[in-house]
Amino acid sequence: MYFKIKMISITGIISLMAVSKLNYFHVILYYFYFLAQRSMLLVPIVFGHFGYSRRDQHTWIRDFKLCGGKFQSPVSISSIKSVALPLPALEVISYHNYLPNPLHLKNNGHSVAINVNNHLRKPLPYIFGAALDTKQEYEVDHLHFHWGAKNNRGSEHILNGVRYPMEMHIVHKNKAYLNLSDALNYKNSLVVLGVFFQLQEEDNRSLYPIVEDLTGVQWLNNEVHLNTPITLASLLPKNIDLFYTYKGSLTTPPCNEVVTWIIFPTPVPISFAQLNKFRQLSNGEDVLVDNYRKLQDLGLRKVYVRRLSPFLIAKYNETIFNVTNLDWFWH
Ligand SMILES: [Zn+2]
Repeated sequence: MYFKIKMISITGIISLMAVSKLNYFHVILYYFYFLAQRSMLLVPIVFGHFGYSRRDQHTWIRDFKLCGGKFQSPVSISSIKSVALPLPALEVISYHNYLPNPLHLKNNGHSVAINVNNHLRKPLPYIFGAALDTKQEYEVDHLHFHWGAKNNRGSEHILNGVRYPMEMHIVHKNKAYLNLSDALNYKNSLVVLGVFFQLQEEDNRSLYPIVEDLTGVQWLNNEVHLNTPITLASLLPKNIDLFYTYKGSLTTPPCNEVVTWIIFPTPVPISFAQLNKFRQLSNGEDVLVDNYRKLQDLGLRKVYVRRLSPFLIAKYNETIFNVTNLDWFWH
């Protein structure tokens, strides 16, 4: 895209000089005007567009350098290889309250998202605990989904060799930061809760508020108000006492390595009919399906799993988790 525009600009200058007999001063002015226009043009192109095909995902690193880092997500999680620790519980606050209205459901071409971040004056649900830095609270920003065209794929993380048909991400940012793009500049600024979905015959009634409004966001950039109020608790698995946690990144460009992942192994049910509603959305060119990133190397990182066996509690004195800075724990 860059070279194409540059070529147009040179041809443009030559033809302009020929037609209007401009002096060099005008040519230089024209060139700077063009540069300014080009930079405005490039921003949405470079930062907004990415695809999920195998070929497209190879280009992420070229356009977004951070996607080539050593702490990328998603990863494959194995219960045997994970390090079991008696971690504190994940505390979820106001998750049983209805999310503040109006709530927006949007098809952004990569996923369908519910944005919660436009209610600056209203208290938002937040989380703390687990292996997160003590005294730090993370409030919900938005949630979105990744799903497959077929039932044997769709989730981004893999658990014990299983790729689920859908995965939901509830994205939280540290309360210290104004918004998501501000938070992306700081270490440990985001916490994403990952929830797997498992197919069943019967509808999951908790998903009605989202699924019934999907027809309103079939096309790229469609946005609707959610008609029915919704709570975050209704979207979580029954058991959140058990979770895996590791340090990783956004799974979409620009792939910032600022995310503490918390993945629940207990899946949430979804019916075939409900999942098919997601599969009918469009990304502007094609059906919006298989919007999951390929697996990334875990490298030297560890995945921790919360386990409360008496043996582990005795082995790790609980006080070791009450330090202010948990950096040592992650390395
Ligand atoms: Zn995601």
